[in-house]
Amino acid sequence: MEAIQNERGNISIHTENIFPIIKKFLYSDHEIFLRELVSNAVDATQKLKKLAAYGEVSTEIGDDLKVTVSFDKDAKTITISDQGIGMTAEEIKKYINQIAFSGATEFVEKYKDKADDGKGAIIGHFGLGFYSAFMVAREVEIISKSYQDQPATRWICDGSTEYEISTAEREERGTDVILHIAEDSEEFLDQYRLRGILDKYGKFLPVPIFFDEKQINNPAPIWTKAPADLTDDDYKAFYRELYPMSEDPLFWIHLNVDYPFNLTGVLYFPKLKNDRFTQNREKIQLYSRQVFITDEVKDVVPDFLMLLHGVIDSPDIPLNVSRSFLQADSNVKKINSYITRKVADKLNDLFKADREAYEAKFDDIGLFVKYGILSDDKFYEKAKEFVLLKNTAGKHFTLNEYREHVQANQTDKGETVTMLYATNAQQQHSFIESATRRGYDVLLMDTPIDSHFINALEYKLEKTSFKRVDADTLDKLIDKGLNNESVLSEADRTKLKELFEQTLDNKSLTINVESMPSDELPVTITMPEFMRRMKDMSALSGEQNMFGAMPVMYNLAINANHPLTGKVLSAEGDAQKTLVKQLYDLALLSQNMLTGADLTAFVRRSVEGL
Ligand code: ADP
Repeated sequence: MEAIQNERGNISIHTENIFPIIKKFLYSDHEIFLRELVSNAVDATQKLKKLAAYGEVSTEIGDDLKVTVSFDKDAKTITISDQGIGMTAEEIKKYINQIAFSGATEFVEKYKDKADDGKGAIIGHFGLGFYSAFMVAREVEIISKSYQDQPATRWICDGSTEYEISTAEREERGTDVILHIAEDSEEFLDQYRLRGILDKYGKFLPVPIFFDEKQINNPAPIWTKAPADLTDDDYKAFYRELYPMSEDPLFWIHLNVDYPFNLTGVLYFPKLKNDRFTQNREKIQLYSRQVFITDEVKDVVPDFLMLLHGVIDSPDIPLNVSRSFLQADSNVKKINSYITRKVADKLNDLFKADREAYEAKFDDIGLFVKYGILSDDKFYEKAKEFVLLKNTAGKHFTLNEYREHVQANQTDKGETVTMLYATNAQQQHSFIESATRRGYDVLLMDTPIDSHFINALEYKLEKTSFKRVDADTLDKLIDKGLNNESVLSEADRTKLKELFEQTLDNKSLTINVESMPSDELPVTITMPEFMRRMKDMSALSGEQNMFGAMPVMYNLAINANHPLTGKVLSAEGDAQKTLVKQLYDLALLSQNMLTGADLTAFVRRSVEGL
């Protein structure tokens, strides 16, 4: 065994002052130094295990290999220790001096002209791993003893391009990386801070990680296991491990693919409440070989699945680059469409396996499915078989089933099938009831995404239109080209129309006399479907546009065949006017449009008339 010659050398890099540049670039992400160094320690441990399995390690390695992180506030050091393969002096020169530093050079060359995009987008992994230690340390020391029969080595570097290497006293195999923390980074010499960083990045590292004499990680999370070896309780327990405050998930998908890219993971469908639509605190976490990378999974996970929870682990996702690069990355695109396909297949399986259970969950699943249909045509091709519509009676239908269900009775003279819907079963109750009385079916479309969903379906389904049940009189909503007999003469109809126009004197009303069945309301007020949709859209987009500014127009339909209409005609003077107002107010009332002074006047008038 030859002793190491004490040696000083120059790290071969071409860029001067490399450290300040790195510090600046990685500014918002300083804490990842710990992720990088602990990952290295884990790698070294796993390499040793592998070598031992091949019979290439002469000594007993033990089955409790671990990585330990510790700190010393007084000495201002943080130490990362492992019992892995270690490095010989030659290896330190090769891997630390040359490779690691050349990685850093490459990094700087590549990024020195590019500004940080403000999100600390440029994160580690350019072979920069070890190097990131200098983000927080003024001096970094390595003491390592290789599994090979070589003396232990000490390497120290103060962040300039100079290093010093010498023989060290160390008997046990493995590596200590000792960071002498810089003055501006002393925040890291703190129990909670370190624990927090370790929890964030190292919770599922594959080798036991010890901090403060406690193991902080679960080295065998369920996504690394075979689905056949797991029970429902295992999945639920893991969900709670990820999101301790959450309710049990509805169901989950175990992802496992190794070609053409490598990806494992478990995605959970959470119980969704509408208010959670916007604030999802529990996000999908992205890992690379069990190292936490980020929970900003945009681009990797299809937009419409951002509401899912769980874990994705893939060594094939580039972690070192900015968002725009990620979008263009072909692996990311493949992963994205793979996840979409898996989710569609899973939903289809659930639907086929147990329709009843699927329907019971549809209030929660519906949001994903509808959102998916809106945003991804490929998903729609599958989802059109299992997306459900629910009617006001609470019965579920697939798209095809529903068409079958209403076709006979709700096809208009132009051969278009009209699907009636309500957005609020309470408020639109009288309209729903009228429709049902005619044998029509009414869908319930009462979630925030439904207006978009309806637009998408009209676009995708042929000869189908959706109309809100209170958008017009039923004869106009589904115009079958049949004319009801009118009990009134043409002259009476004109008189009636003029009487209402003069009495109500309201420019936003379009008044018409229609021949409806006598058991429908005498007067009905409706907002045309197209106008309400335009209004809704402009309200949703939050912009003032043409439609937002457009005055609201209502249709007022007078039922020529209602007995009260005849009463209006035969009444005279003030009694006639009162009756017109009363009927108009009743129409407003059934649309929840009667408020304030008008409502008070109506109540008084009604009381007086009793
Ligand atoms: P990367 O991990 O991406 O290869 P690093 O700069 O983090 O780049 O490390 C460079 C090399 O130094 C590693 O590939 C490994 O060979 C060696 N190394 C770093 N840390 C350790 C360690 N704790 N034990 C053994 N070897 C290590």
